Amino acid sequence: GQTIGIIGGGQLGRMMALSAKEAGFKIAVLDSTMNSPCGQVADIQIVASYDDEAALEELAEVSDVITYEFENIDYEGLKKLTEIAYVPQGAEIIRITQNRVTEKQAIVEAGCPVAPYIVCDSYEELVEKIDQIGYPSIVKTARFGYDGKGQVKLNSKEDLPLAKNLFEHSQCIVEGFIPFEKEISVIIQRNANGDTYCFPIGENIHVNHILHETIVPARISDETKNLADEAAHKIAEHLQLIGTLAVEMFVLKDGQIIINELAPRPHNSGHYSIEACNISQFSQHIRAVVGWPLRKPKLHSPAVMVNILGQHVAPLINSIVKYPHWSVHLYGKKEAKVNRKMGHVTILTDDIDQTLKEIEESGIWL
Ligand code: ATP
Ligand code: MG
Ligand code: MG
Repeated sequence: GQTIGIIGGGQLGRMMALSAKEAGFKIAVLDSTMNSPCGQVADIQIVASYDDEAALEELAEVSDVITYEFENIDYEGLKKLTEIAYVPQGAEIIRITQNRVTEKQAIVEAGCPVAPYIVCDSYEELVEKIDQIGYPSIVKTARFGYDGKGQVKLNSKEDLPLAKNLFEHSQCIVEGFIPFEKEISVIIQRNANGDTYCFPIGENIHVNHILHETIVPARISDETKNLADEAAHKIAEHLQLIGTLAVEMFVLKDGQIIINELAPRPHNSGHYSIEACNISQFSQHIRAVVGWPLRKPKLHSPAVMVNILGQHVAPLINSIVKYPHWSVHLYGKKEAKVNRKMGHVTILTDDIDQTLKEIEESGIWL
């Protein structure tokens, strides 16, 4: 059988691998540790450390096709890999999306709206230029931010010093704060033949800047839905997408949308698709990278997905007996650290409000 190589052994790599194994593929994963979520799955070949050129060459040797589960891959290394292995997604989309500056430019070039923003190379430049954006605003490091890390909100001039150390490692962008009504995400996938489909749109609720819940279908108007799908198609086209792209958006009071950021991979907000759809984002991703025809995603049932962070694992296990209708996913991570994504629960439901209440009243996510 064919072997799929996956760069990164976290939960996204694991769920890709599980889907690919179902379809008969062998899996090799590039990761620095056997303790990763992929290391816990039987019959996955682990190739050591992703920043090591020799490891990339080894992955290339054992893999018929290579994909990735995260965007912070060394770009030059990945580019070299595309010359010695089949990497259908290419390296360009990684170069663009691993830096907020090039990512925002690409979104604008695709003809989609973004928050007003400027680029600053230093704290002094921020102080000098902040009036172009005003307050409230958000300073974000151009690289390596996730779960709101590497971000500072500025409510007034007095907050400026809070942003000082963001510049230690990276250029930053400064964005106008968008008073959004909702956050949504569109997951779009495309194969080399041009088959292109979006998953049903998810409505995302964050707690402490970390995704807490995704509600599907998103409670938005058909008009907003169309705007969101159109934007995802435009960006996918502009980036010549192969594989998966998650597009995070803000929905304004008038139903218009603003694109927040991109992720060139399956996304936390798409995990609901495993139970709620006729195909999961992971199976579709695998189909896209191996060149199989894509299936039009269809929602079998409305759903709520809730993330399980380190502090939620023990309370979940303690009350699991009460919730036979919850689908529980745990990723096999060893240490249940606070705020670390350990798993998720998906609940299929005909009554979203009742399910949100059930989640709250469970006391697990207090
Ligand atoms: P992720 O974990 O999704 O990769 P991240 O650290 O890359 O997150 P963003 O998605 O850019 O960061 O921002 C995190 C959250 O902060 C957003 O989901 C949103 O709630 C809020 N936020 C970010 N930018 C803005 C903005 N311009 N206006 C209002 N809220 C914002
Ligand atoms: Mg992000
Ligand atoms: Mg985000």
